Amino acid sequence: MSGHNRVLVTGAGGFIGHHLVKRLKAEGCWVRGVDIKAPEYEQTPADEFETTDLRRYDHCLQATRGGIEHVYNLAADMGGIGYITSSLADISRNNILINAHMLEASRLNAIKKYLFSSSACVYAQCKQKSCEAAGLQEEDAYPADPEPGYGWEKLFAEEMCRYYLKDYRLDTRIVRFHNVYGPLGTYEGGKEKAPAAISRKVAVANNGDEIEIWGDGEQTRSFMYIDDCVEGLLRLMRSDYSGPLNLGTERLVSINDLVALICMIAEKRLTIRHDLSRPQGVRGRNSDNTRLREVLGWQPTIPLEAGVEVTYKWIERELTKAGRVPCKYTSQTAD
Ligand code: NAD
Repeated sequence: MSGHNRVLVTGAGGFIGHHLVKRLKAEGCWVRGVDIKAPEYEQTPADEFETTDLRRYDHCLQATRGGIEHVYNLAADMGGIGYITSSLADISRNNILINAHMLEASRLNAIKKYLFSSSACVYAQCKQKSCEAAGLQEEDAYPADPEPGYGWEKLFAEEMCRYYLKDYRLDTRIVRFHNVYGPLGTYEGGKEKAPAAISRKVAVANNGDEIEIWGDGEQTRSFMYIDDCVEGLLRLMRSDYSGPLNLGTERLVSINDLVALICMIAEKRLTIRHDLSRPQGVRGRNSDNTRLREVLGWQPTIPLEAGVEVTYKWIERELTKAGRVPCKYTSQTAD
């Protein structure tokens, strides 16, 4: 990545896309951001920001015009487990249109490097049935048995990247994110993920209150702080590796442990009510970073405790501004 690159970030109004635009600008790149909506929590620093619907091929051609060299395709219709299991047809249709059109437009506009944001949801569900999940290696996506809808679409879009590389020499990168969290991400409305949803529930609770957690809370995941995510994206783009690559941490945490950590940061004692009727996804999922270390000579380093503290405090501040944090907690955190 040179400071002179002209870069397109799709999904620049979203969580990872917005953070990536900030970092690319700090590196000196010229950045065009596109999204169907502007960033929610602060202004974009992109040189150009265009509101666009990437399900439309003409909009993808427009987005990739004008000497863009690198594309980070982060646009997707996605959210937490409740959201991605709620409308399989719409999510898979929207995303396959975005990804198919972005690849073709990138080819026609002679993009030099194209990064596709895939997901740990591509991994075979039959390999994720235990809470003590062994790390998933990149090969564990096959034989295919991914998350319905969202996971199948991501897996097929990965395949399309391989075909564009083989048939057209489009230089593709494929990253499989494992649960990215941090400030400036959605924390309510249905699209939020577990760390943000739990932070919101804890922030608005009074000491001694009960909060609802989906499933029995023994389900496990690994979580990566946004700064590590962005660092990994830049390193992958700089590399010459075109196969799928995990980007996550290898530290397995149960949802109950995550709740306990957030309560400790918030200095609140809360009771958990487990709602077994709500979706909880696979039983356990972890990243195996062997290939990540080999390819990038690096892996995420930011400890969960540090990242969750920053994230919780940001969500608490947002809710404090909205007058939703119980009064006795606001004085400690409103600064
Ligand atoms: P996000 O929802 O915050 O960002 C995605 C953005 O895409 C949104 O701003 C949305 O408005 C935009 N978008 C959706 N449909 C669009 C359309 N038709 N045209 C233009 N823009 C459109 O999600 P995120 O967490 O920033 O995720 C970025 C990418 O990483 C996505 O591809 C997602 O599938 C992938 N991913 C994220 C995680 C994670 O933990 N955050 C995990 C696995 C994969």
